[in-house]
Amino acid sequence: MVNHFIPQTFYEALEYRASHPCYIMAGGTDLMVQKFVSSSLLPAFDKDVIYLANLNELNYVKKDENGKVHIGASTKYVDILASEDTPKLMKDIIIEIAGPNIRNMATLVGNIGNASPAGDSLVGLYLLDAEVVLASLKGNRIVPINELIIGVRKLSLRDDEIIKEVIIPTHNELTTYWKKVGSRKAESISKCTFAGAYEIENGVLKDIRLAFGSVSVTVVRNRALEEKLIGLKLNELNPDKVVELYKDAIAPISDQRSKKEYRYKVEMNIVKDFVLKMKGE
Ligand SMILES: Cc1cc2nc3c(=O)[nH]c(=O)nc-3n(C[C@H](O)[C@H](O)[C@H](O)COP(=O)(O)OP(=O)(O)OC[C@H]3O[C@@H](n4cnc5c(N)ncnc54)[C@H](O)[C@@H]3O)c2cc1C
Repeated sequence: MVNHFIPQTFYEALEYRASHPCYIMAGGTDLMVQKFVSSSLLPAFDKDVIYLANLNELNYVKKDENGKVHIGASTKYVDILASEDTPKLMKDIIIEIAGPNIRNMATLVGNIGNASPAGDSLVGLYLLDAEVVLASLKGNRIVPINELIIGVRKLSLRDDEIIKEVIIPTHNELTTYWKKVGSRKAESISKCTFAGAYEIENGVLKDIRLAFGSVSVTVVRNRALEEKLIGLKLNELNPDKVVELYKDAIAPISDQRSKKEYRYKVEMNIVKDFVLKMKGE
């Protein structure tokens, strides 16, 4: 028989996780869809479920002394949007996730746990070099987001671990850019997404970051390519050159939402727009 467990403390959740094979549920907006069978049948859970959505201990957005923002695993999008500590890029992304109904239930950590190539928040988290705290009875370990997500719906999470929080560096020095392409304004799964960021000092590119979503098994970000652009003067930066640099970086596929050719062309047009905005053109 499949049970659900509602822990009163995070420690209780870790104890249960260590002793029972189980699913972890936060808002359930992915998990319930994945386990849905039919409107007249119970969802098809084949293991117990730990329900974390109401765990107050993990419901927070707080900035530490190093300016990093910690977002707990039970914190819903609506509260992340309301916090003055949430980085602007993450707010720009979250306000376009689903609609108000889902944002009142769903969590940022659930978007990470789902590890979908179309997970919108992941693009911002990769761009800002976010890290994730994985907790177990043995202690915590902190891993960069790109090491936690290892494939489509695949995480390097041990069977006894639960994601406790995500840590996002604020990067106030960066100007950020976000674009989501979907078939409508709200409640839309992305056809493709792009997040960019840059810092300019005395007309020279001090930092630049580009991250692409929904065009590979997970977010595409390549620091080696970014470093080829760092140090260039703004007037040396040509949108076509950046497109040329990134031409082999993404490999979209065709699916029910879009053709690969469409995704590729749209992403490259967005890159051009990002560069032109950076140059103030
Ligand atoms: C109508 C609709 C519209 C949507 N629109 C968007 C959209 O625009 N963009 C987008 O990116 N997504 C969208 N989604 C998907 C979903 O809402 C998001 O991925 C959301 O962030 C999931 O959060 P959740 O708390 O509901 O996760 P859940 O469904 O509870 O969990 C999702 C996954 O994460 C795992 N998980 C949850 N918490 C933890 C934890 N603490 N530790 C380890 N694993 C954990 C679960 O086991 C599960 O595998 C949409 C969904 C619906 C139903």
